Amino acid sequence: MTVPLLDLTTQYESIRGEVDEALARVVQSQHFILGPEVEALEAELATYLGARHTIGCASGTDALLLPLMALGAAPKSHVIVPSFTFFATAGAVWNAGLEPVFCDVDPETFNVTEATIEAAWTERTVAVAPVHLFGQLAPMAPIRALAARRGAFVLEDAAQAIGARSADGGAGTLGDAGAFSFFPTKNLGGFGDGGLVSTGDDALADRLRKLRVHGGRQMYHHEVVGTNSRLDALQAAVLRVKLRHLDGWTATRRLNAHRYDEQLQGVSGIRVPVVAPGNRHVYNQYTIRAEKRDALREHLGSLGIGSGVYYPVPLHEQECFRCLGYGPGDLPVTEALCKEVVSLPIFPELGEERLSRVSEAIRTFYA
Ligand SMILES: *Cc1c(COP(=O)(O)O)cnc(C)c1O
Repeated sequence: MTVPLLDLTTQYESIRGEVDEALARVVQSQHFILGPEVEALEAELATYLGARHTIGCASGTDALLLPLMALGAAPKSHVIVPSFTFFATAGAVWNAGLEPVFCDVDPETFNVTEATIEAAWTERTVAVAPVHLFGQLAPMAPIRALAARRGAFVLEDAAQAIGARSADGGAGTLGDAGAFSFFPTKNLGGFGDGGLVSTGDDALADRLRKLRVHGGRQMYHHEVVGTNSRLDALQAAVLRVKLRHLDGWTATRRLNAHRYDEQLQGVSGIRVPVVAPGNRHVYNQYTIRAEKRDALREHLGSLGIGSGVYYPVPLHEQECFRCLGYGPGDLPVTEALCKEVVSLPIFPELGEERLSRVSEAIRTFYA
């Protein structure tokens, strides 16, 4: 019995009838870019998220980029981002003509905190982009308060956190704008690239809708320079079907996490994920800290068990950001996590038997 890190085929098979019907409807319409299918998805997601505005776009990366473009900040203004995240969080900042300033994360939750953000603050800081890493919200109330005191924009990177909540509210509704990704491996994944921005700000929503179609409301009349970042109707059709199943899948991810927590409890050499009080984690990844991480992964691999390392290299040590002047030792928690973290299979179709096999393999390794 092998255990893949992720299996999208089984999920497709479980909803094949509905998905194929939705795809056929779009093909029949021959309306592929934006249009009624995308508008329907935007409306359904606005309701699901509790967001005033939702703007579909071409990817999660663009869902970060567009609000940063809309800011209209002076070139090279600073945006504080965690170093322990997927590259796009910082890449979008750079591509908007701004400069990422890297901050560290909490060693327990892997998320930025008010304190780690404050430690990175500069005179040129115009925005902060907290990431809800692996599906758990960063502590948004204190982060929002800090940003409000200093007049900075808050962009939530909610790419991994659709449906995640705290007592404060849901992912993507706790800052000035939220970025979601529909990359196939995300909890709500399309059959290709896709993304969405949420915001409660009417004027910002208006600017975002313009920016995704080359900066004009009317064809061939451009008020600002935007880009091509549209969501296509085939993706929207798939996502509308999957959205109906999302809460069920999330519940199973959470059940899987609960089972791992129990089965891995007391294994010396690892630390299971820590959920901050009041948080509803949606487990896009179930990520543990492990001693001898690479040897553990080899052991799992030899038993046919998949695992992943998110992320092996801190962003502040990436070659492309060498010009920013960071070095080893600058963000010690991030640097330690990159050497210790490993993500285990957590997808909804995993099942109890395969999950127990993963736990057993980990217990054996450390025994
Ligand atoms: C996936 C992801 C993105 C980018 O989304 P794409 O749709 O792949 O462009 C951004 N930030 C984080 C944290 C992600 O996990």
